[in-house]
Amino acid sequence: MMENKNKRSDFSYRYLVDKLAAGETLQREEWRALLEDTDAGHEAYLQKVAETVTARNFGKGVYVRGLIEISSYCRNDCFYCGLRRSNRQALRYRLSADEILACCEEGARLGFATFVLQGGEDGGQGDEWLAAVVGSIKQRFPSCAVTLSVGERPEAAYRLFREAGADRYLLRHETANALHYALLHPKEMSLERRLDCLRGLKALGFQTGAGMMIGSPGQTADCLLDDIALLEAIRPEMIGMGPFLPAAHTPFAGKEAGSAAMTLKLIALMRLRFPRALIPATTALATLSPTGREDAIRCGANVIMPNLSPLAVRSKYSIYDHKACTGCESAQALKLTEDMLARIGYHIVYGRGDYEKE
Ligand code: SAH
Repeated sequence: MMENKNKRSDFSYRYLVDKLAAGETLQREEWRALLEDTDAGHEAYLQKVAETVTARNFGKGVYVRGLIEISSYCRNDCFYCGLRRSNRQALRYRLSADEILACCEEGARLGFATFVLQGGEDGGQGDEWLAAVVGSIKQRFPSCAVTLSVGERPEAAYRLFREAGADRYLLRHETANALHYALLHPKEMSLERRLDCLRGLKALGFQTGAGMMIGSPGQTADCLLDDIALLEAIRPEMIGMGPFLPAAHTPFAGKEAGSAAMTLKLIALMRLRFPRALIPATTALATLSPTGREDAIRCGANVIMPNLSPLAVRSKYSIYDHKACTGCESAQALKLTEDMLARIGYHIVYGRGDYEKE
């Protein structure tokens, strides 16, 4: 039989997965061994253990969040993102406060208890304006959670948002490797600044989400090992991971997409390492693979974020090409999501779904 150096013995692979499941961490080289091993039997084992750990922590319940994409204007110029300011072809829109509240109204009617306001870094939606919008949502829907995802803002802005009642904030670190970060972003952006924002958000008491794209241009196994180490250091309540997908009219338009298998593996590994974390089955994965959503749930994802944006703007929030926005991605089609989950033995939990420590 041929020796395959990359293939660990079944025994040592299971030993590492079991060690994670027992609440221990791994050495960098052990993480690397898991990342580099693509044996199908091993991946099936990892998936099973991750699914068991998820069930132990959350039963078979999956949280839903209504995603409202509030603006496609952005002052940033991230090389991967279709909404980067240099993209003259991007279709721009900005929701008004009334439009956002109308989305929440509809979301509440559909049963959502969390609203996620996500957008570009739009100077037309200033900090005080956004804080006022959050205040109105919290006043109108006091039992609902509000999550913001509007990029890097001054600490004072984060404070305003928090005082207005925002509960959570999503700000992916994108990559924890400074050199790789510089390959994905223009010179005026830095990993240090991103991490400062994340630390500030945590200090203000936000349930904070970090995370990385999988398979972005220039990413190596070492970048992912840095990502894992960073997540261990900041212990975010939420971890968003999706494959990189090329976006037209960006510097990375012709690049290859990230891999669904690698994304699923990282979801499973992060589930084992952070048993209580809120991990979404991302739209990017659903866009890349028709079974992406259910595969992610079976690997330990426990959040789905259907789109609640007004129908007229949905196709304009084009961070990457062919972004899924119908079927299970649509808030109006929760029944489809329920059916999809039922087929794999799961169900929607219509609560706020806050992070809870063990
Ligand atoms: N402006 C906000 C929201 C960005 S969109 C912010 O900076 O946080 C949310 C996430 O989409 C980003 O954090 C990024 O990880 C992901 N994303 C952007 N472009 C992408 C692409 N081309 N492929 C896959 N994911 C992408």
